[in-house]
Amino acid sequence: MQHTEFAVLRQPNWRDSFAWAIRNSDELIDRLQLPESLKGPARLAAETFPLVVPESFLARMKTGDPSDPLLRQVLPISHELESPATYQIDPVGDQAARVLPGLLQKYEGRALLITTGACAVHCRYCFRRHYPYQDDPKGLEELEPAFAQIEADRTIREVILSGGDPLTRTDSWLSRLGERINRIPHVEVVRIHTRLPIVLPDRVDPSLIAWMTESRWKPVVVLHANHPNELVDDCADAIGRLREAGMVLLNQAVLLRGVNDDVETLEQLSRRLIQLGVLPYYLHQLDRVRGAAHFEVSLDQGRRLIEELRKRLPGYLVPRFVQEIEGEPSKTPLA
Ligand SMILES: *Cc1c(COP(=O)(O)O)cnc(C)c1O
Ligand code: SF4
Repeated sequence: MQHTEFAVLRQPNWRDSFAWAIRNSDELIDRLQLPESLKGPARLAAETFPLVVPESFLARMKTGDPSDPLLRQVLPISHELESPATYQIDPVGDQAARVLPGLLQKYEGRALLITTGACAVHCRYCFRRHYPYQDDPKGLEELEPAFAQIEADRTIREVILSGGDPLTRTDSWLSRLGERINRIPHVEVVRIHTRLPIVLPDRVDPSLIAWMTESRWKPVVVLHANHPNELVDDCADAIGRLREAGMVLLNQAVLLRGVNDDVETLEQLSRRLIQLGVLPYYLHQLDRVRGAAHFEVSLDQGRRLIEELRKRLPGYLVPRFVQEIEGEPSKTPLA
């Protein structure tokens, strides 16, 4: 009995893990025993887009290594403050595609809901790092016009939950959302774009799995991991739980300088993904968002990497190398 109680007490709770995420750049730098000189620039760069790093993600970084590929994705640095004019606030034309509050429509048959502005990690290269989330719905009631629009358009077969990260929403919010979508018969698939199983694996708990499996619509989960070092420990366990529940699992990555811009890393990423039952879906060319110029890899280099991956990997492990170009009818294939 005593043992059971102990186990219950120690049950990880994702809300706590989220609340305890590191939000102070000095603390991140100290915890990883990095040079003091990184602190000033980090503080400055975090003013425009705050730092957020959960403990679980931190645990997968190497102490004392400023070029750790996981750290590079989340540590604000001085380069963020020197963005060329070609790097914009809204690089992919989200505002032009916003048909109603919280609803983006760019492609046939699919509608994308901005479910929240919150994320459990702040990726420095995020193409929505300047997105005006404050103008979008907070409560589910405010999304009703978006639901009505989806309901009226029978060509929409798939609703994509995006943000921010939809899984930062509470179970009860998601449950009401899922029920609302259940009432729209032509929506067959709900696609969940999330990084939480990677950065906050506690989120994949029994009630989340129940929500995903007990609806009429078919769930498709699109994860976001950029480096094989992300896909270990509690993250690998979380993906395992999604697999056991029979979820279709895909991954999208962003090609990032100093993180995954070499063929070995991309090859290992694909191999690690399939070990966990996840198919590589997209490799995105960086969207030119202000503050992220230092992450860009040239198109030529990206194409060479994909060519090399094609030689080394079975076809299904080669991600589609794409870019989002405003006004195009789909993501644009680059290789
Ligand atoms: C990327 C995106 C989609 C999904 O595109 P797929 O190629 O189907 O993955 C849908 N809607 C919007 C607004 C998007 O930006
Ligand atoms: S998880 Fe996605 S939406 Fe959130 S900061 Fe990272 S790239 Fe942006």
